[in-house]
Formats: sequence, structure tokens, C-alpha cells
Amino acid sequence: MKIISHKLEKEHAAFIETKKTSGNFKAGRPDILVIHYTGSGNLESAVSTFLDPSVSASAHVLVDKNGQLTQMVPFNKVAWHAGRSTHLDRTGLNRYSIGIEVVNAGRLTPAGKSFVSWFGRKYPEEEAIQATHRNESEAGWWEQFTEAQIDSVFRLCKVLIATYPIKYIVGHEEISPGRKIDPGPAFPLDKLREKLLSGSRKDDTPAEEKTPEKGVVNATALNIRSGPSAQRETVAPALTRNTPLKILGKENGWYRVETKITGWVAARFVKPEN
Ligand SMILES: [Zn+2]
Repeated sequence: MKIISHKLEKEHAAFIETKKTSGNFKAGRPDILVIHYTGSGNLESAVSTFLDPSVSASAHVLVDKNGQLTQMVPFNKVAWHAGRSTHLDRTGLNRYSIGIEVVNAGRLTPAGKSFVSWFGRKYPEEEAIQATHRNESEAGWWEQFTEAQIDSVFRLCKVLIATYPIKYIVGHEEISPGRKIDPGPAFPLDKLREKLLSGSRKDDTPAEEKTPEKGVVNATALNIRSGPSAQRETVAPALTRNTPLKILGKENGWYRVETKITGWVAARFVKPEN
């Protein structure tokens, strides 16, 4: 993936321009990536919100359920995604940051055997995850992000870090606590930071670098694929939680594993066991 003239290359992202920007970033910016969820059921409704002149909101990139990217504001221009926000000694973070919106409904409410989003759509049990928000004390239910989305966000952040002077990755919930809960606990925000901004911390965590020999599936359903990428086809039905895995190798955040069959799974959904 590459960025040319502050836009993602055509083969990697659609570009649907919104005029909702405050103009160019100042020198030395953007230096923060802000992760959000859209709080919507699909890409289309989020895109139309960001195009709607009566709503003061926009973002640089949207990440659809299948991982596909839609850019709406060039990366050299300020978008309107953070609102009232604070990070270290700075406020009003739109002026410093790139906004990435991941299509996801957010918090779900249990309703019998399934779950309901705030906009009234039903979600089956397999699409929900129970987890505790970093700003809350009790566990709640959240829509799971897809493997393709998370893979896509990791790759997008990586190219943004390589192109702009990015020093921080934050969640909206961290810069606007009390007002915002996105991206929520279903999103692996700490992993993202650890993986992409760990340059200076690497030496302290050599254990992280070692590939474990065994592990178990740490997700409700984990796709097993023919190669180390969410773009590769699955080779068997999704593995269920706690399926034991023998880990044969590692590549780009993916493990080659052996269970009843051999294939590749995203390493972040495997809990090591030794
Ligand atoms: Zn947000």
C-alpha cells in the first residue's frame, strides 16, 4: 500500500471526497492517529453522514467489514472526527490527527439469544464479544471487528506511520473520555500500538518476539487460511474458542498452525500456552 499526493493508491482504496475539512495541517503534523468506530451497520450510512453538509463530522478513512478502505479527506487536510478532545498538553485534536473510522455498531444489548445495536439491528451471538471497556468497570457486549478489518487497519496505520511523523495512536475513548466510547474493547488498540510504535520498547520485551510452541484460539470464531493474510481463502470452517493449536511458524503477525489440518491464523487471536 502506498500514499501518493496524500491519497491512498487507487487499487487500495476508493476516494469519495467530502468538503468537510478545515484546510491544511500545519508543519510537523499530523502526528497522531485516532481510531474510531462508525457506530453504524454499514459503510454506506457512514459515508453519507460524512457527505451530509448538515452534520459537522468527517474522517480521513473508513474501513469496511471486508477490510476495504474508503478515503474521504486527503491526509494533508484536517478532518472533523475528534471533536472536544485532549491528549497530553494538547486539545482540539483534529488539528493534529488522522481519523480512521472502522465500520462497527459498537455496544450491543443482549436480547434473548442474540443482540441489538443502538440503531435496532439484530446481531447473532457469533458477532458479539463480551469485554470490559477501559473507561468502565463492568463487562458489556460489543460487535466484533472482522479479521479483515483489523488486518486492514494495521496495514493502513503502518503506511501512515511510514509517510507522516506519527508519534501516537489513540482511541477516541482515550482523548474524549466520558463523551466517547469508540473504538471500545473489541478493538485491539494496545496491540496496534505495541506492534507499530514499539521501536523504543522492543528491547524490554524480548519474550514478545519469541514464537510460542502451542496455543489456544482466543476468539469466538477464528478463520484458518491458506496463507498469512486475511485475503487468502479459508481452508476449513472457523476454529472455535479454546481449540488447541500447535504453532509451526510465524510471518507478519500470522501463525502457521496445526490442528486437525494445517493453515494460517492471525497470531493476535491465539493465546500462547507453554
Ligand atoms: Zn469517534
